[in-house]
Amino acid sequence: MSAARGQHVTVVGAGVVGLTTALELQARGHDVTVVAEHFQQPTVSAVAGAVWMPYQVGQRDRHLVYQLAHSTRRWLDGLASSAPEAGVDLLDFYEIDPSVDRGERPWWASTELRAAAAPVAGAPLAWHFRAPRVEPSLFLPYLARQLARPIERRQVSSLQELPGDVVVNCTGLGARELVGDPQLRGVFGQVLVTGVGQVPLDLTITDERDPASLFYVIPRRDELVLGGVARPVDGTEPPPAEPEISARILAHAARLGLAVGPVKAVCTGLRPVRPSLRLGRDADDARVIHNYGHGGAGFTLCHGAALAVADAL
Ligand SMILES: Cc1cc2nc3c(=O)[nH]c(=O)nc-3n(C[C@H](O)[C@H](O)[C@H](O)COP(=O)(O)OP(=O)(O)OC[C@H]3O[C@@H](n4cnc5c(N)ncnc54)[C@H](O)[C@@H]3O)c2cc1C
Repeated sequence: MSAARGQHVTVVGAGVVGLTTALELQARGHDVTVVAEHFQQPTVSAVAGAVWMPYQVGQRDRHLVYQLAHSTRRWLDGLASSAPEAGVDLLDFYEIDPSVDRGERPWWASTELRAAAAPVAGAPLAWHFRAPRVEPSLFLPYLARQLARPIERRQVSSLQELPGDVVVNCTGLGARELVGDPQLRGVFGQVLVTGVGQVPLDLTITDERDPASLFYVIPRRDELVLGGVARPVDGTEPPPAEPEISARILAHAARLGLAVGPVKAVCTGLRPVRPSLRLGRDADDARVIHNYGHGGAGFTLCHGAALAVADAL
């Protein structure tokens, strides 16, 4: 860990990655300002389910992603027991996946994972484990409340224009334009927020048996989030919701015997996906540290990535 304390740091971005990074830097004695165009809506952090799961990330850097994920996991587990207002709860997960039948444990798994029948129609075999679920509408304000100063709300057109000894780039998909990163791509997601209906609030179910029909149900404290889809798109603005996707998700829930409540909202977002996470100093501008490209796993990796940035200062 670096001994340099008391540096002036500008963090760009107030999604889950920027806020977590800013708080870790603040905790280490740095003077931190967060600058962001948006907070909560319409960031992708506000759309996420959000469960602990290294999804759509780590294609090229699994070892790093594994470390960041499990470090974040320990932090979220701690919040679940110490800070109920943060909106983090530990749930039972059932991941219905062909790899269970083949006995191939997922690369991100810890030792606690085991095969068990999923509590849905047909009782297919699933990977069963316990992991945290985060409610973004509670979690993001919980993080922001701990900042020493309010978020400065504005768009940034160049990292070089920003003050500070250090600038940390946590702009998610915004980095595609801000630093001209062609490797970063948006992967479209669409979720339905529904009433609880008859679905238990203590378990998350994903069904990945058919790659063309990804399905998951994630309970929040008083509603459900149903997905999903993962489709690469051009551009940085999420396309509008597609009624066919919503119908497919609801039909999948019914097939599994999940009696969900009425649909309250349909939301879309773009996961900031990159072949490998961009985490570390810029090669050309040593004042800049990048921390973006967390794919479908920003909540899963945020604290581990924040520790890595703070260690690099
Ligand atoms: C449907 C869906 C479900 C998901 N489910 C999960 C899940 O279950 N678990 C999980 O871990 N992850 C999940 N994700 C992924 C997760 O949402 C993202 O990985 C994470 O939110 C990315 O966070 P971020 O802070 O990097 O980006 P963002 O939330 O996009 O925040 C970026 C910030 O940077 C700011 N910014 C960008 N450009 C500029 C600029 N030029 N000037 C000023 N400010 C700028 C924005 O205003 C914003 O404040 C899901 C995503 C989707 C779409």
